[in-house]
Amino acid sequence: MALTAIINDTTLRDGEQTAGVTFTAEEKISIARALCAAGVPELEVGIPIMGREERETIAAIAALGLPASLMVWGRMRSEDLAAAAQCGAHIVNLSIPVSDLHIQHKINRDRQWVLATIARYVSDARDLGLEVCVGGEDASRADPDFLLQVAEAAQAAGARRFRFADTLGLLDPFTTFSRIRRLDEALDIEIEMHAHDDLGLATANTLAAVIGGATHINTTVNGLGERAGNAPLEEAVMGLRHLYGIETGIDTRQFPEISSLVAAASGRPVSANKSIVGDGVFTHEAGIHVDGLIKHRANYENFAPAEVGREHRLVLGKHSGTKAVMKAYADLGIALSEFHAKAILDRIRDYAMLTKHTPGSTELERFYLETAPCQAVHS
Ligand code: MN
Repeated sequence: MALTAIINDTTLRDGEQTAGVTFTAEEKISIARALCAAGVPELEVGIPIMGREERETIAAIAALGLPASLMVWGRMRSEDLAAAAQCGAHIVNLSIPVSDLHIQHKINRDRQWVLATIARYVSDARDLGLEVCVGGEDASRADPDFLLQVAEAAQAAGARRFRFADTLGLLDPFTTFSRIRRLDEALDIEIEMHAHDDLGLATANTLAAVIGGATHINTTVNGLGERAGNAPLEEAVMGLRHLYGIETGIDTRQFPEISSLVAAASGRPVSANKSIVGDGVFTHEAGIHVDGLIKHRANYENFAPAEVGREHRLVLGKHSGTKAVMKAYADLGIALSEFHAKAILDRIRDYAMLTKHTPGSTELERFYLETAPCQAVHS
């Protein structure tokens, strides 16, 4: 069977769950619209039991009639279910701890209680007209045999999906693959991967889950989310496309706009070296790389920046070579001899070291005039 992956973006739920991050209703609506405009097919939009305001915001998103399926998050409790049923969402993710550690030390119950609770609340949610995803909290630390029992209980009760939550981000891709593969072999329902980035492996684990048979994956824009965050939308989509040829139907050229929108609304700026959306990831300074890029793009280009709505930027600095200097001046309409370019490069290096900035056109013109005598003597 051909591998597929349906994106369930949880920027508006787990993303907002990041300590210190809150979205206004208007921000949530703008983010939901932007994600839908880019073709994201499923959105997890909030936690109805949190209160009236949250429910009203979710209902407002539902009222937009966006093409995405909307999911809300809740625990296996009657009040969570009642709240979830009021918002106009299509699917509810009902979360329940599944590791012995959480079962004993967080909720003080036992495995039998977990299985019975799933049977009861999945059935209740279905009666309320909701589709159900059973969220296995701390699934990565659960006994794999029991985890299978949990997922089978979810399937038997009428859930359409089981979410495998690596709640603490402690798995590696090899273990993720085999855990998901085992579930996929035994289940007929959808499997969703929910990864966290505590060891920097959220994207790797998400891709491994898809290869293991997960049908759905949770992502967040810029990798926002609790602690180190979730699997970034932009990384998961580009990784699936370029490593496995799996298309998610998402317009990757819209990533910069979505990234800026979420960075501003969350108050979490994106670091310059963040893959795909970071300000500096298509900027080149080193002489060898710039020279290679100018000769043939593929020398130092994995995918075209235009594919993700970006472009290459060449800057001058400590690691620049004379070729890049000559090109930068040619762009300013100044033809340099190689000898003159070498003299200017010394100035550029001093400037970069002193200011920790790349020189702009004003500085370049000044360096040209200051070093002009070299040109006069040697040309
Ligand atoms: Mn989470």
